[in-house]
Amino acid sequence: MRRRLALLLLTVSVGAAQAVPVAVDVGHYLERPGATSAYGVAEFEYNQSLAAVLAARLVADGVPVRLIGWRGEMADLRERPRQAEAAGAGFFLSIHHDSVQESQLEPWVWSGRALRHADGFAGYSLYVSRLNPHFDESLACARAIGAALSEAGLPIATHHAASAPGLGLEWADVQRGVYYYDTLVVLKAATVPAVLLEAGVIVNRDEERQLAGAERRTLTAAAVARGLRDCGVTGR
Ligand SMILES: [Zn+2]
Repeated sequence: MRRRLALLLLTVSVGAAQAVPVAVDVGHYLERPGATSAYGVAEFEYNQSLAAVLAARLVADGVPVRLIGWRGEMADLRERPRQAEAAGAGFFLSIHHDSVQESQLEPWVWSGRALRHADGFAGYSLYVSRLNPHFDESLACARAIGAALSEAGLPIATHHAASAPGLGLEWADVQRGVYYYDTLVVLKAATVPAVLLEAGVIVNRDEERQLAGAERRTLTAAAVARGLRDCGVTGR
């Protein structure tokens, strides 16, 4: 099923040769798959599933897509923006799902497995690096995507802000859920405008259920597609 989708994307991308591709980066890889969700699922699986829905949505809108790290093989962070550049992408979007600090996780047992959750944290967030050579456009697009996600009714994850005991990041736009994260490798190494999306908090048991469903993925993909149109990356 997933292989067929990748082939479809490739075919459509060739057909729409005049439009500039968007690079959709699947965060993490199989050997180091990121955070573990409240129900014990690896973040990489969530990233891959959302990237597929987003890619299909963009292609349906006539936007060519280059998927990066799709098979879970991409161990080298710098290779990700390099592949985007080689594909002639005009924008780099890295897809992730969020967790919390170790100290904020609470143990629980589900289906006989010892797992951890943090139900007090929820929502999406976006990240830009001031070290990206196209910082202004990166920020404009992060704000546009954030505005669309917010209008879709999704909450903003505030737990990475300087005022919280987490990553302590500075807000770039608190109303739209955009943080500065200057040192993120894929953002600062990208040669095109770049944004990282944390689509939701997978250690929150309620939000994980939503993030695992088609409705939330479709809604997120539509908001991202709209944001990219609004900031001028894709045709209006
Ligand atoms: Zn991640």
